[in-house]
Amino acid sequence: MSGLSYLNDTPRRGFDYLIVGAGFAGSVLAERLAAGLGKRVLVIDRRPHIAGNAYDHHDEAGVLVHRYGPHIFHTNSQRIVDYLSRFTQWRPYEHRVLAVVDEQQVPIPINRTTLNALYGLDLQSDEEAERYLASRAEPVDDIRTSEDVVVNQIGRELYEKFFRGYTRKQWGLDPSQLDKSVTSRIPTRTNTDDRYFTDSFQQIPLHGYTRMFERMLDHPNIKVMLNTDYREIRHDIQHDQLIYCGPIDEYFDFCYGKLPYRSLRFEHRSLDQERFQAVGTVNYPDEGVPYTRISEYKHITGQAHPKTSITYEYPSAEGDPYYPIPRPENAALYKRYQQLADATPGVTFLGRLGTYKYYNMDQVVGQALALYQRIEQAQRESQEA
Ligand code: FAD
Repeated sequence: MSGLSYLNDTPRRGFDYLIVGAGFAGSVLAERLAAGLGKRVLVIDRRPHIAGNAYDHHDEAGVLVHRYGPHIFHTNSQRIVDYLSRFTQWRPYEHRVLAVVDEQQVPIPINRTTLNALYGLDLQSDEEAERYLASRAEPVDDIRTSEDVVVNQIGRELYEKFFRGYTRKQWGLDPSQLDKSVTSRIPTRTNTDDRYFTDSFQQIPLHGYTRMFERMLDHPNIKVMLNTDYREIRHDIQHDQLIYCGPIDEYFDFCYGKLPYRSLRFEHRSLDQERFQAVGTVNYPDEGVPYTRISEYKHITGQAHPKTSITYEYPSAEGDPYYPIPRPENAALYKRYQQLADATPGVTFLGRLGTYKYYNMDQVVGQALALYQRIEQAQRESQEA
């Protein structure tokens, strides 16, 4: 990682900002504070690398892989693309996902092709598909859970084939126990669009996420310390402000109890063949299969290589905190931590773990840029006063 300044043996001195977490939240804010306001920033991360969950690297076979599962960049925000484009060129990439259902591989989100393949139909238009789905839908009066959303829209049979098992594996909870937001994110289509996302920008950093982060953090005012937990250094590093992108409950020593997260175990495999599957990700909704999905990176990165590398995802209750579990009691617990945070001067919580919310990468970039604007404005106002 040339270009980056690491703080290893240099004498410790004061910083304007100490930023915990070198993922999107911490790195974007560090770049803005250093380049925009000339602040002296130290970014620490307890992992041995930058880029947080978006970290990618070449594995032993020489294939570019994502350490924490496939990361697909998609957004509708021109502003966020413009900002990140300062640090990377892009490769256009539209993600496609197939689900293994009834021994076939069919598009998910469910679209007209899915219905025709599964039921031997010949639906020719959006209207026909709409009528077909309406005939299967089972209206639910008061839509509250993830089960309600789907059954109301497409009926119980399709719900059970595509959503029930997958969600139970992914979250360790039945969709009837989960907030409606979880399955609301996955649309059902009556056309034949088989892209997973429909955002106006769908693209992958041309040389990978880690390279983009290296460029972002390559500034004379930014120092980076890896393999460093906040708890180890909090009394040693002088700083005026703290930005904490780690888990908010951990910062407060879990004083109100643990915020529940769902985790994943990733099983990476390198194969002596050029291609493994037809698309970037194949989902396995069947509860009898222990993993939820398999991703093959070469589809995403466009890398040409005689070998290929894939990742199986096994959901688990234990392990790194990945997905905040969206249930009302967890939101209430987070609120208590948030109140404590508001009453704690000198520290701001940011990012997916700091604010206990499922955010995509672009949303976290947006959150960090918005915080920067508030800091910049406050500084301007204090200079004018
Ligand atoms: P993170 O990337 O998690 O960074 C936080 C960092 O803080 C970590 O590196 C951690 O080590 C460090 N840290 C925490 N506590 C401490 C401490 N006490 N001391 C020091 N360091 C600490 N988003 C998309 O847009 N598209 C996708 O396709 C997509 N796929 C995903 C797939 C998976 C399996 C997962 C888990 C997430 C996916 N995401 C995706 C979401 C994406 O990973 C997040 O939006 C993004 O990583 C959030 O950035 P962040 O900086 O908030 O958190």
